[in-house]
Amino acid sequence: MNSEQTNLISDVREHVRYMHELGLEALAADLPVAGEAVARQPERSSSSIQPVERTAPPPDLKAQRFSPDPEKRKPGERIAALPSLAKRQRPQPEKQEKDDENTVLMMAASNPAETEKEEPALIEVSPVLPESTDTMEIIRADIGDCTRCPLHAQGRKQIVHTTGNFNADLMFIGEAPGADEDEQGLPFVGRAGQLLTKIIESIGLKREEVCIGNINRCRPPGNRKPEPEETAACRPFILREVAVIKPKVIVVLGATAAHNLLQIKTPISHLRGNFHDYFGVKVMPTFHPAYLLRDPHKKREVWEDMKKVRDYLNDAK
Ligand code: SF4
Repeated sequence: MNSEQTNLISDVREHVRYMHELGLEALAADLPVAGEAVARQPERSSSSIQPVERTAPPPDLKAQRFSPDPEKRKPGERIAALPSLAKRQRPQPEKQEKDDENTVLMMAASNPAETEKEEPALIEVSPVLPESTDTMEIIRADIGDCTRCPLHAQGRKQIVHTTGNFNADLMFIGEAPGADEDEQGLPFVGRAGQLLTKIIESIGLKREEVCIGNINRCRPPGNRKPEPEETAACRPFILREVAVIKPKVIVVLGATAAHNLLQIKTPISHLRGNFHDYFGVKVMPTFHPAYLLRDPHKKREVWEDMKKVRDYLNDAK
């Protein structure tokens, strides 16, 4: 074998490795080592050819087809059709970045308007309560002799509005008035209300120092839980009041109040014990006093929650 044949075989072996890199596994035939190519005929049978899954070759390879007729093919044509080893080196990261940069510059030159487009403005989400032009009097007037939900026609004696200190750092929000509240027109004045007073005093505050309200202002018949459409109709009023009062902490009493303020469905037993956020206001969900009357063992957990409220308010002074 002359040196030209040896070089040819070396070149072919190198290019076959390249074809392997491209995924053309069907070319995985053993090549003779240089020097044996002429003497040895490859032993092949149809069973030795393993079917392989082919992937489409890259477009640039398709464009490099050589003459299919060996008679018409010039010596070395096939090898010349393949990219040289130097040319098929993958671009180095630096070069790639440069290429990308050039592409961007070219795009900018061809269409300056495209690249000078302003970024779309981001929607600002206020992390704090928005400034309110409301007052408690305006809100009360807006409520008027409210008929916005079915509760107005289900035996209510009067609307029970939010009461207490409208400059308070601490606000309590419950579910809806009961029979005593409906009778007196004041929130939390029944047995559950008396327990709430004790809870407030347990952290060193007086009832008149805090603000107390409900999600719904009319008593649901039989003290049933308000329906979603009823809470949805009334909730805006308490939210407007929160924006006016701007308390540092809101204690939500029971699941209905917690779910309506925080707009989540997590059970109250999972929500309680940790502060949550309502536009920058700390929210502590805890059990409703009426529930504590039915299950006094839960008082311990409410006490734990209220200690956290007390500590936060003391630190925030
Ligand atoms: S519960 Fe609220 S929305 Fe429904 S009638 Fe009473 S004040 Fe109006």
